[in-house]
Amino acid sequence: MAGPGIRIIADRCRGCTLCVKACPFGAIRMQDGKAVIDYDACTLCGSCIPACKRFGAIERVAAGAGAGVPEGPRGDVWVFCEREPDGDRLVSVSRELLGLAPSLAAALGVRVGAVLLGSGLVRSPGEAIAFGADEVYCVEAEGLDRYDDRRWSLLLSALIREHRPGILLGGATAIGRALLPRVAVEVHTGLTADCTELRVDAETGLLLQTRPAFGGNILATITCERHRPQMATVRPGVLPRPTADASRSGPIHRLALPAPLAAASFQWLDFVPRAAAGVDLREAEVIVSAGYGVGGPAGVSLVAELARALGGVLGASRAVVDAGWLPYPHQVGQTGTTVQPKVYVACGISGAIQHIVGMQNSDLVVAINRDPDAPILGMADYAVVGDLFEMIPALLRELRNERPPQP
Ligand SMILES: Cc1cc2nc3c(=O)[nH]c(=O)nc-3n(C[C@H](O)[C@H](O)[C@H](O)COP(=O)(O)OP(=O)(O)OC[C@H]3O[C@@H](n4cnc5c(N)ncnc54)[C@H](O)[C@@H]3O)c2cc1C
Repeated sequence: MAGPGIRIIADRCRGCTLCVKACPFGAIRMQDGKAVIDYDACTLCGSCIPACKRFGAIERVAAGAGAGVPEGPRGDVWVFCEREPDGDRLVSVSRELLGLAPSLAAALGVRVGAVLLGSGLVRSPGEAIAFGADEVYCVEAEGLDRYDDRRWSLLLSALIREHRPGILLGGATAIGRALLPRVAVEVHTGLTADCTELRVDAETGLLLQTRPAFGGNILATITCERHRPQMATVRPGVLPRPTADASRSGPIHRLALPAPLAAASFQWLDFVPRAAAGVDLREAEVIVSAGYGVGGPAGVSLVAELARALGGVLGASRAVVDAGWLPYPHQVGQTGTTVQPKVYVACGISGAIQHIVGMQNSDLVVAINRDPDAPILGMADYAVVGDLFEMIPALLRELRNERPPQP
């Protein structure tokens, strides 16, 4: 066999059975006092390697090295894909995850699988391929037309048991946050929520899952050594936006339901789209945000005027939302919305880490602050040191081609 693999070096094996306990798929057994891998069950996930650290009797074998592993499950990288609630297009975070997944899969020598559950899956499977999936697993049924915690988690868990992906990624959306933890419990593995970075450790093959911890003051890198799949969610807008490649192609597996659908876990009453609920920062190309430095509702109105003049959407720091000057949908940051506009203008915002993590992927940042040491000025492309009550009116006059007021 020419693919990558895992092998046991029999001379070094002491029969301690630690690898048997570490294997999440029950793929290692003892035979004549030595560990033996059942390659039909093995997903090449590598959980057994750190378990045998002491004796070094298990090793990864590079592609072409003659590992003796027959064709079979590869421990692929799966992306759970969500669709727009009112259509058959992928949501932005699913596209972003599909854009990242090929680099993880390449590091492991596996493929990228996209998983789609629902009904009326017409455009979205092809879209998943165009954004980076090598193949798509679709399950369609009438009872799957609306998201349901119990139904979807049991179904996705059954697919995982059957196809044994090594990694499962999903968006930290309302659905992702409800579904993936349930799946993790069901298949008995770990989940790192709200990751800001994902990469593969070249030595161990483990997924390095980095996320802010302790209120965003440190970045923790978490691994899931002994259970599979390694599961992580990523918030929308954190990863770069990929571009679709319509020339890509790959198989679309239309799978039958593995078992009858479970009873629905709740009753569907209504759907209110986010845009109708007020503001949608996620897709905005220009965002002008008000910070506590605006001093109150009058200052917010001034920033809103600048947002309108630039054709942008009004954002806010948490301090502004906490003060009741703007409602929560305007909040940018760790506990608000993560944004990725072309232009982000921060007015009277200090630049606390919890705000920065929500807007740091903006293409161009302009910050207005009267304190030259404010952290936001350090990360801005254009740092304007001055009073926003002078700077914003001056900017508005410039945008409207007006003359400055005469003294
Ligand atoms: C768990 C946790 C989660 C959090 N999540 C978020 C989040 O999602 N989003 C978020 O924003 N914060 C979040 N925070 C809060 C965050 O730590 C900061 O407290 C908050 O971002 C500060 O908001 P601010 O910059 O508007 O206010 P301040 O820190 O008070 O800064 C006001 C700035 O305005 C400047 N200023 C004052 N007057 C003027 C003027 N006339 N002209 C120009 N500049 C002026 C000042 O120099 C100052 O830099 C979170 C905190 C925690 C602990």
